[in-house]
This record gives sequence, C-alpha cells and structure tokens, in this order.
Amino acid sequence: MPLGMKLRTHTEGKQTKKKTLRLIKWLQKKHLLKKKLRCPVCHHKMKMISVVKKDQFMWCCKRASHRKVSRTIRTGSLFEKSKSSLFSWMKFIYRFSQGLRLRQIDMVDDDVAGSSKTLSAMAKRIRQVCISAMERHGYARGRFGNAWKRKKWVFGLMGVKDKRRRLVLKLVEKRTRRHLVPLIRQHVKSGSAIISDEWRAYKNVLTNMGYKHYTVNHSRWFVDPHSGSHTQHIERAWMTIKGHIRRLRGNRTEMLLEEHLKVLEWSSWLGSKHPDGPLGRLFKDIWKSFPV
Ligand SMILES: [Zn+2]
Repeated sequence: MPLGMKLRTHTEGKQTKKKTLRLIKWLQKKHLLKKKLRCPVCHHKMKMISVVKKDQFMWCCKRASHRKVSRTIRTGSLFEKSKSSLFSWMKFIYRFSQGLRLRQIDMVDDDVAGSSKTLSAMAKRIRQVCISAMERHGYARGRFGNAWKRKKWVFGLMGVKDKRRRLVLKLVEKRTRRHLVPLIRQHVKSGSAIISDEWRAYKNVLTNMGYKHYTVNHSRWFVDPHSGSHTQHIERAWMTIKGHIRRLRGNRTEMLLEEHLKVLEWSSWLGSKHPDGPLGRLFKDIWKSFPV
C-alpha cells in the first residue's frame, strides 16, 4: 500500500471513529448488525475492539490465547463481503426508500458510492431483500428468465381500496385473452369492478367471468361506491406507474426487469403500508433476510 494512502486512511479513521461507533451502535439497535458474537473456536463472548482497518471496529475473542481470533462487525449482516462503507450503505438505503427512480449518475455525484459498479452491487442486494419479503408474504416466486428471447409486454393490475394502491406486474409474451385472463382470474376477486382500457382481449370476457367491467372511455363518471374515489385519481396513479415502467425499459436482461417490477410491487404492497414508510419497512425486511 502506498504511504500516502495509508496516511489518508489513518487520518480519516481518527476523524470519524466517534461517528463510526455511533453508526455501528445504531445499526445494532436496528438489528442490522450483530450485538453479540461468540468466538467460533471457544464459544466465549467476543468483544468489539478498535482497529485501523475498514469499519474501524472488529470482534475479538476475550481470551488472551485467542487474541488473533477476530471477526468483522459485519458478520451475518446484509453488509458482509461488501466493499462499500457502512456510511455509503446508509445513504444508499435512504435513497432507495425515497424513490424508485435511482439515477446512478446522481448518486456517484452525491458521493453515495465511488462507482456505478459498487452501486449496482448494492442495488442488487436491496432488490433481493424486497423480493424475499414479497415471497415471505405469499407471493409465488416468479419464473425469472435469463435473456430476452423475444419482445415481452408488462401487464399491470392495480388494486384500489380506499387510499391503498396495490400492484401486480407481470411480463407476458402476448396481449391476448389466453395470456391475460388467467392472470386476472388469479389476482382479482370475482365480483370486483374492473376498469380497463378498451383492449379487445377483454371484450365481454370479464363480464362473463363475473366481474363488473368498465372501460376507461366509458367510465368518465364512474365513482367507487366504497371509497368515493373518482376514476380520474385511479388513472393518474396508473400513469405514474407507467412512467416508472417506461424508465425500466433500458434493462438489459429479462431477469433484471423482473427484479425491478418486483420492487415496484414491494413498494405498493409492503413499503407504503409500514407506519414509518418504505424506509421502516426496508429495515424490517433487511433484518428478516439477515437475522443477526
Ligand atoms: Zn475464543
């Protein structure tokens, strides 16, 4: 390691030691880092010691003969084996929960992470947390494809109840009755009112299936009898979602697109439902995925 770099790391360490310890304690309180750890050799409790290395603290065995037995404070956590600092992680998690429109270029500028490669790695881990959370809540694991075989469509359903908006987003090969109707049957309770565009795949079919079907053009004055919400509000919410999806078109693989769609679903089913909003929900889901 060149001397200049070593010095810089050292001074940075001195400046932020207090801050780092405060962050570590806070993460431990939030169950994102382990509060206790036992020595893998003698099973005695380990203690946190100050070091000059990454994270500035480490777990070390209390027994004199095991002084060399140490573990990173990230053991078993979301952050284990990640190159990003805990501070970068916090900034990233905060950004992620703030909005789904994460522009990498802005985050490199704002010093969330040094490179877009690092950002991609963090984003992938967080998406996995959201996907696992959706699976725990009983949403079947989607068949994640690999490469784009042919052009696919994103088929979306938005459930509206009072102020809640719940999303189901699926990739379909074709927009035909054969492809869409089973999805509707799977996700929409019989007897529900469905407002759709005037795509011919739905014509008469939905009514025959026991749904009350309205098309956008014929529902100008449709008001939900329970919530009183006008179709205009629903249409506006739908437009926002379409905007999100349009921005996902650049994804190189089908798998990546499916992951992003799952995160959108997570946001509407779980993120917005938490009393502390998506950030609170994300902390909870990280803890569930990485029980430390
Ligand atoms: Zn030990």
